[in-house]
Amino acid sequence: MRKPFKQRLAQALRSPDLETALDRSLPGLAQRRRESLEGEDFELQQAALRDRRADHVKRIPELLKEFTQNATAADSVVHLAADADAACAIVAEIARKAGATLAVKSKSMTTEEIDLGTHLERSGITTVETDLGEYIVQLAGESPSHILVPALHKTREQMAALFREKFGKAVKSDRESLVAFAREELRQSFVEAGIGITGANLAIADTGTIVIVTNEGNDRLVSSLPPVHVVVVGIEKLVPSIEDATAILPLLTRSATGQKMTTYVSFITGPNRSSDIEFVPTLGAHGPREAHIVFVDNGRLEMRADRDFASALQCIKCGACANVCPPFRIVGGHPFGYVYTGAIGLVVTPFHHGLENIAEAQSLCAGCNACETVCPVGIPLPRLINEVRSRAAAKKGGGLKRFGVKAWQEPGKAAAITGGAARVISAVFGKNGFLPHLPALPLGTRWRRLPVPARRPFRSRTMPSGSVPSQTQIPGTAAAGVTIAYFPGCITDRLYPEMGEAVVRVLSACGADVSCPELPDCCGLPAMNSGDPYLARRSARLMIEALERADTQYIVSSSTSCVVTTVQDYPHLFRDDADWLPRAEQLAKRVIDFTGFMEKVARLPIGALRTEDSEIRVTYHDACQTNHVLGIKGEQRRLLAQVMGLTLLEMDDAEMCCGFGGTFSFDHPEIAGRLTHRKLDCASRTTADVIVTDNPGCIMQLRGAVAARGETTTVLHLAELVSQFLPV
Ligand code: SF4
Ligand code: SF4
Repeated sequence: MRKPFKQRLAQALRSPDLETALDRSLPGLAQRRRESLEGEDFELQQAALRDRRADHVKRIPELLKEFTQNATAADSVVHLAADADAACAIVAEIARKAGATLAVKSKSMTTEEIDLGTHLERSGITTVETDLGEYIVQLAGESPSHILVPALHKTREQMAALFREKFGKAVKSDRESLVAFAREELRQSFVEAGIGITGANLAIADTGTIVIVTNEGNDRLVSSLPPVHVVVVGIEKLVPSIEDATAILPLLTRSATGQKMTTYVSFITGPNRSSDIEFVPTLGAHGPREAHIVFVDNGRLEMRADRDFASALQCIKCGACANVCPPFRIVGGHPFGYVYTGAIGLVVTPFHHGLENIAEAQSLCAGCNACETVCPVGIPLPRLINEVRSRAAAKKGGGLKRFGVKAWQEPGKAAAITGGAARVISAVFGKNGFLPHLPALPLGTRWRRLPVPARRPFRSRTMPSGSVPSQTQIPGTAAAGVTIAYFPGCITDRLYPEMGEAVVRVLSACGADVSCPELPDCCGLPAMNSGDPYLARRSARLMIEALERADTQYIVSSSTSCVVTTVQDYPHLFRDDADWLPRAEQLAKRVIDFTGFMEKVARLPIGALRTEDSEIRVTYHDACQTNHVLGIKGEQRRLLAQVMGLTLLEMDDAEMCCGFGGTFSFDHPEIAGRLTHRKLDCASRTTADVIVTDNPGCIMQLRGAVAARGETTTVLHLAELVSQFLPV
């Protein structure tokens, strides 16, 4: 039984050692993954593995039948457990029959899922975890915080202190000493255990073989020294053949630990045997006489029948989605998930442990999309997390947040509210453009100043439905004569209208015929983020209708979040709507982000915007949607460095979320604040004069934090910087 979410979160945020422990491990894991994939076409391999695993998931019942036949022929006993209790009861009964009072285990998240250790203890069987991380977690009376690295949340100094406390012996905190100590303590258990319990990474149907992938090799001792070997494995791990297994292994190990292959890969088919006496197979020569495979359903068949969530069964439990997750980097896995942690934990928990056990934790997802980018089997994790959010909101009701989101996107209302408020607020506080910090606000919000809404939003500054007069044209532009409708997005419209004006000036200078059509207040993204598809669809219909009226070749937005919403989310929102789906798909073909337009359509030549101000040194923050969804990583850099001739200084972790994440920064201000400060620290180490990015949400976040820190760094939208270099 886990502590309530709020307690787990508060504990993580209070822990002085947690961020140190996570900082020591997570960047290394992510970096090793990147290095191991260098020179590989990851997207191609990811798509192939996604399709292969999708096929396996479709065939689970057939593969289970085939595995059972072949494993039985190889003298294994195959069991199927409908739920956690049934699985635990099966294992306890096997242990009882074997007369075992001590079980050794190698790491298995499925046994964590069913809480096997507790069940066995109640049945009088002591279990000893033999994976080093699991052993540490077991000694500490905790649960794994990462599906691959269970003790990721602990520093080595904490591990040494734990050994000292539990065994009364002084242990040095260097890694070698810790490993040697655990090895010494664990060795005898392998010999004395009456039963060895492992998980399995894969189960091969056409041979009845299980596959276990480790580096420590403890699985080999667990599966070969005790007289009985029990494998506890989810039914989704079934694959048809050894070809499928070997197709999965390279991406599994690269994604998990950045290794081309792990130290040990065990293929086990049936119990141990020898045919050395008269060539008659005899079981139990050196290893177990009995081999049992317990397949666990526990919600998996329900997941398979759910068209939204069936893809989650493709997961090969590599842990990569946690390693790149920005909020996970701050709070670790205990709050970010339940038994399964990280992005995949938010997705599968409703099926294994009930929606109520993840209903709050899902709010930790900032929607940055980094997890989907690295997932080797292409699971659409952010979309599935949003679906969990919708289901949780439908069960609980959206409350105040839904009211706020509704008001923000009510046609005309938000503009009226912010416009009215802006006039009053800016008259009082408008001097530096930021609201004062209110003492009543919680501590976690003091890291950011919120902007004063614009007195005149963008829409009232330009000609709403007419053409904008063109500027002096940039030499060499390839966009002369193209027609564009500009779609500013609500943050630009209400908070930063001057940013919108800069975009229009730049597009116009590219020779485009730019118009600013009347648009609804909101594209529906906040409603989607809040798990309210009804409100989201309503906003989407209004936006589609308005953009259809703009009869232009392109619809350019300077908000990549709005671009992703219209291009990617609208077709998904209307996937069952025969009227609106084609309209959404048609619209998606015309929508493009500002950076994409500049590089793909305007294609400005090298040096086209170089001026004497080109001495400015800039650093670039990759907005999540731009980087992870639109895949724009080099285009903006070419514009800055080659077209404008600026000195581009790359910051560390440029692609790490700045902490905005839409409503995330309001739901979890303390986590958002820590992410933002990390970002500003990275930026200031470059000594750049300007931080450039291309998403207005990031700009709000970074400008607000710069102001709260009392710093003077300039934060600009790419279009604002380009507009300063236009020919006059
Ligand atoms: S979308 Fe980003 S914040 Fe959400 S789970 Fe994935 S990596 Fe984490
Ligand atoms: S969801 Fe993808 S990235 Fe996450 S553990 Fe599963 S396979 Fe790995």
